[in-house]
Amino acid sequence: MNKPKMTTEKGNSRVVMLLGQLERMNGEAVPGDAEMARHVTGKILHLIQTQEKTKKEMTAKGSSGMEVILAALEVNLTTGRLAFCFPRYCLAGGGNRVGVLVSKGGTAILLQLLLSASKDVPPSEELMLQLHSILAKVGPKDKKFGVKARVNGALNITVNLLKQNLQNQKLLLPCLQVLRVYSSNTVNAVSLGKNGVVELLFKIIGVCVSNSRRAVDRTYVPALLTIYQDWHRNDTRHRHAHIRKGILGCIRNVTNIKLGRKAFLDADGMRILYSTSTECLPVRTLDPLVNTSSLIMRKCFPKNRLPVPTIKSVFQYRLPHVPAEGPVAQLYRQPPEVDDVVDESDDNDDADTENDTENEEDDRDCCLQNDDIETDLNKLRPGEQASRTMEELRMYERFFSELSEDFQVQDLEGWDPSLSRIVVPTAPDMTPSDSNLVQLECADRALDQRPGEGLEQALVRELGRVALDGGAAPNGQRPAAESEVEREDDCSSHSSGDQAVLEVPDTAALLPLHDPELYVEMVKDTRSVPQYSEVAYPDYFGHIAPTYREHIVERLYGVQRSKIFQDIERMIHPNDILDKVVYDLDLQSCPVVDDGECLKFNSLFESGNLRKAVQVRKFEYDLILNSDINSNHYHQWFYFEVSSMRAGTPYRFNIINCEKSNSQFNYGMQVLMYSVREAINGRPCWVRTGTDICYYKNHFSRSSIAAGGQKGKSYYTMTFTVTFQHKDDVCYFAYHYPYTYSTLKMHLQKLEALRTPQIYLRQDVLCETLGGNSCPLLTITAMPQSTSNDQICQFRNRPYVFLTARVHPGETNASWVMKGTLEFLMGTGPVAQSLREAYIFKIVPMLNPDGVVNGNHRCSLSGEDLNRQWQRPNPDLHPTIFHAKGLLQYLSALQRVPLVYCDYHGHSRKKNVFMYGCSIKETVWQTDVNATSSDLHEDLGYRTLPKILSQIAPAFSMASCSFVVEKSKESTARVVVWREIGVQKSYTMESTLCGCDQGKYKGLQIGTRELEEMGAQFCVALLRLKRLSSPLEVRHASHFLEAEGDLIETSCRNTSSTTYVLKEDEPSFMEEVDYSAESDEETDPQENPGDEEHLSDSEAVQQHPFT
Ligand SMILES: [Zn+2]
Repeated sequence: MNKPKMTTEKGNSRVVMLLGQLERMNGEAVPGDAEMARHVTGKILHLIQTQEKTKKEMTAKGSSGMEVILAALEVNLTTGRLAFCFPRYCLAGGGNRVGVLVSKGGTAILLQLLLSASKDVPPSEELMLQLHSILAKVGPKDKKFGVKARVNGALNITVNLLKQNLQNQKLLLPCLQVLRVYSSNTVNAVSLGKNGVVELLFKIIGVCVSNSRRAVDRTYVPALLTIYQDWHRNDTRHRHAHIRKGILGCIRNVTNIKLGRKAFLDADGMRILYSTSTECLPVRTLDPLVNTSSLIMRKCFPKNRLPVPTIKSVFQYRLPHVPAEGPVAQLYRQPPEVDDVVDESDDNDDADTENDTENEEDDRDCCLQNDDIETDLNKLRPGEQASRTMEELRMYERFFSELSEDFQVQDLEGWDPSLSRIVVPTAPDMTPSDSNLVQLECADRALDQRPGEGLEQALVRELGRVALDGGAAPNGQRPAAESEVEREDDCSSHSSGDQAVLEVPDTAALLPLHDPELYVEMVKDTRSVPQYSEVAYPDYFGHIAPTYREHIVERLYGVQRSKIFQDIERMIHPNDILDKVVYDLDLQSCPVVDDGECLKFNSLFESGNLRKAVQVRKFEYDLILNSDINSNHYHQWFYFEVSSMRAGTPYRFNIINCEKSNSQFNYGMQVLMYSVREAINGRPCWVRTGTDICYYKNHFSRSSIAAGGQKGKSYYTMTFTVTFQHKDDVCYFAYHYPYTYSTLKMHLQKLEALRTPQIYLRQDVLCETLGGNSCPLLTITAMPQSTSNDQICQFRNRPYVFLTARVHPGETNASWVMKGTLEFLMGTGPVAQSLREAYIFKIVPMLNPDGVVNGNHRCSLSGEDLNRQWQRPNPDLHPTIFHAKGLLQYLSALQRVPLVYCDYHGHSRKKNVFMYGCSIKETVWQTDVNATSSDLHEDLGYRTLPKILSQIAPAFSMASCSFVVEKSKESTARVVVWREIGVQKSYTMESTLCGCDQGKYKGLQIGTRELEEMGAQFCVALLRLKRLSSPLEVRHASHFLEAEGDLIETSCRNTSSTTYVLKEDEPSFMEEVDYSAESDEETDPQENPGDEEHLSDSEAVQQHPFT
């Protein structure tokens, strides 16, 4: 370095004098002067420190004071300990002083100081701290800083310093800042990366988190945020996204603990990450930053309380008796004052069970699924359990008159279904009395228009019209306010104004099983807990499958992220949020102001489910679903009406209290919408609709009461956006194609009309439900060809096929499949006739009418999943199961065990249609108990029916089938009918709610046409099954089964227990569909082994998979 010349044109101030002296000594560079130089420098520093005037003088433009000092420092590198603080004082004032220092060659000197200081053992902490603090400021101003630092070996000094001082908070920050500056040079960044700096950053945080929660408080999180912001501003060319990601990773780790989240919020972290992320959004390569930011923000988003007074169902139904234990008992024992919406204890809970990786949850699911495999061979071997005695079972004789009828005298055509109506002693007699005769009001098929009223208004006004007079309801606990109002002007309106008639669609030709008038008749006998007085238009008009294809929607990139950002904005800009309650079943008396600025909602009709609607922004609504009755959760099914909409404006709807950790809404499934205007225009269709659909964990906390005792859990949001086509339309939204109990009754009546002399059809009432609805039982077979002994004998000896459906109310697809089966069985074609001649069908098409009527998703009125009651059904609480099982037990007692049993279900998480069956061998193989499995002999016949289905039914996928028996399923229909009744071909048939990813319908969402087709194909498959077992084809059949057997052997043996995944269909596609915002794609699961902070809030315990 050239020795600078001191200019003294500004007079003789003391500092100038001292500088002159120092300059001279620099020039002479006599070793002995070192002490002197230090002395002089010390004096100068003192002056700078104490006199503002001196400081200004030293750093003034044109002053060479700094150069002199620097020169002095350079000369006295080894001894100039005191001098290091000089530049710091110079920099203290900010401004361009850093620039001056750099331009005078200060960087090199500082780096040399660093080098020399690092040689001390141990290095002076104070000195290192100071030097790094200065370098952090100097570095960004010096374009060559990176190179200089590398040449000087400063990189390693800093890195080593960091490594040795992981817990030294004071030192960490400046070192990290310097590190950032180093790595603005690409070569440095690479070299630092190789030296494990990124890992080091994580380690720093790791150490802090596990050793010292104090580390988090006050300074640490703000510092990290500052560094992140700093990087964000300076790394304009995005060369160091990985380092920025590393810093975010630190923040993410720190915010795993409650203290960290608080510090993050206190440091305005939400706003910082929100604004940086927003700026990163346009650059696709920065997505990992945005995703991690979003993850942190979501984690730190203060948990909100779900805006409901209780999470228990809004509808009350008092059970005749409460089970001694279990969730229902708990619910009844809970004192009324308990706040079940949130846990008080959550706030104090510092256990931090929070976990942000959805994938981990899924991993845990897999493990649990493996644990769930039944290993007790005794439970796998079909065996009769303690059954009811023949005496007890004799009550079912009446349902099997086909076994005794001789067809000699009875007039078969004149059979009256009402005569067979029985009242099972265990169920209350709910025969309608005169006092509660429901009366249909004005359900005429026309709309009248009032003067000055547009068609739209007329439509809307009239659309409350398909209403039943519910005022006379026997228990009268909830006279629907709406219908009261409507009743006043209802009939009078007929005489007023011009008549502009809108025709109800004439669907008779297209919908042979539908009849609006008949539907309303059926509704009158349907008992609902809320005493519904209205009929939803889609159920009244009927539904025709649209003619066009409905593709599984391709998810647009970044949708979930942008939705989440909109949610975060609620916190950033709270003033933009309306928070206006526009629909609330908990507060029906509270009149909702209709200011024309919001949508109107309604769900008070059969199968309806919507508890509350809150207008969040002008065109955005939060929706809350109602729990199943006598339960405080199980909500997924929704069905509600929306009106007062604008056309052409996108409305965003968020169902904010979803419970499952993942949903097919993330994989291309859309919601269903029915437009009344479209229906009137001749298109009465439920259509798949909605854009920007996604499903993600939200910031509404879920109380442990509803989460199986797990704390700190959140709900999930299912969001979709709809742009209405018509102004002032009335539209309905549903989770899946609605199929009400009244619809079933209507269909059954219409089926009756399809009967020909060849068809033996009998409809009985199996029993009454808790809610007073009757549970229909159908017997279908062919009439005997003659009354000869042989023919009657053939008739009676036909094997039974026993079918049930809709035990889970939310699985409406099961009803559509059942409709397909029933229609096929009543068909006139030769296949249908052969099928009827081959079997006697016993069918319970709706095992859970009460659940269906009351808009439940999973349970019956008893608040229990009826498909977990088959082992010990209670005649009072689970009458339909008790008696359906009774029928099977009766058959078993007669040695007439059905050939096939199948229970129709819907599956919310998988695509295609598939079956679950029961096989000892395949179960044992999954558990790796090799020794015993070879001894087992099992007929492979259980695979035949699904195999046939996979060949003839386009939606059916053999690959999705499973024949493993799980412990958690031991009380399901499938397993109990297999084990206790001894039906080898006992199945659950699961139909997707979403669509298919194989076969003819690959890429399409499933519709009612495909579901009905599936039901018909099931029948065809049964006929083929029959033929395969007939003597003529036995050779072919055995061949068929052998080949199949080989296939099973290989596929099963190759399947290790760890690959056994039943419930989850999609986890491997998570990233592809941008589910990654839920997880950190770069996180190594090994990173925090055994870390207590990383307790997972696994979903597994709380899952309610469909089966
Ligand atoms: Zn189910």
